[in-house]
Amino acid sequence: MSIIAANLQAVEATIEQACAASNRGRETVQLLAVSKTFPAEAVVEAMAVGQRAFGENYLQEALDKMQEVARLQPGTAISWHFIGPIQSNKTRPIAASFDWVHTVERLKIAQRLSEQRPPELGPLDICLQVNISGEASKSGAREQELPELARQVAALPNLRLRGLMAIPEPTDDEAQQRAAFARLRTLFDSLRADGLALDTLSMGMSGDLAAAIAEGATIVRIGSAIFGARHYE
Ligand SMILES: *Cc1c(COP(=O)(O)O)cnc(C)c1O
Repeated sequence: MSIIAANLQAVEATIEQACAASNRGRETVQLLAVSKTFPAEAVVEAMAVGQRAFGENYLQEALDKMQEVARLQPGTAISWHFIGPIQSNKTRPIAASFDWVHTVERLKIAQRLSEQRPPELGPLDICLQVNISGEASKSGAREQELPELARQVAALPNLRLRGLMAIPEPTDDEAQQRAAFARLRTLFDSLRADGLALDTLSMGMSGDLAAAIAEGATIVRIGSAIFGARHYE
């Protein structure tokens, strides 16, 4: 078995355990394999054992990889999720090539994605990124802005607002991990109570996925636990 296949099996076991511990069905949590910095061959290895959803942070790297994966493995449908910071001059290729975007944090970007989404692809699935760590993080919408932003994004024609995403400050303390995820969950519940039809909480990475599942994650974004340590150039 390849290292990636073995790692995927281990991650799967962790997800199953966390689901069981919270009385959640395994099917309520989707595993997004974060393949940033890894080559198309790594994606193909994960596909060989059934992985079908992949996350990428860097646009050009992702576009090259998508082409290469399609060449190596034609005819297998997979979904691509954009999970990196979005520059406003890069929205067009994101809208045309991805199935999901998890990192929308302002209306301007959402409007551009909606305008630039090719209609034949159907609506682009969107999560709003929320800054739940306050001053410690520069990314994400502020909690106070969230209800208004969510209403505006939900009204855009070529997007489908699915839910919320956050990257809490990394910590080994499981109580702190859970507190951050619970905060996102509370924001999610209050938007739903306001009438927005959201179904997605994108939270949890390699170091905190069990805590995220305990607090209601529906998508966990896992990179290094599947593909190994990243080496940036
Ligand atoms: C890189 C990245 C991940 C995966 O992180 P790991 O710790 O390697 O699992 C998840 N989400 C986002 C937004 C990322 O940038």
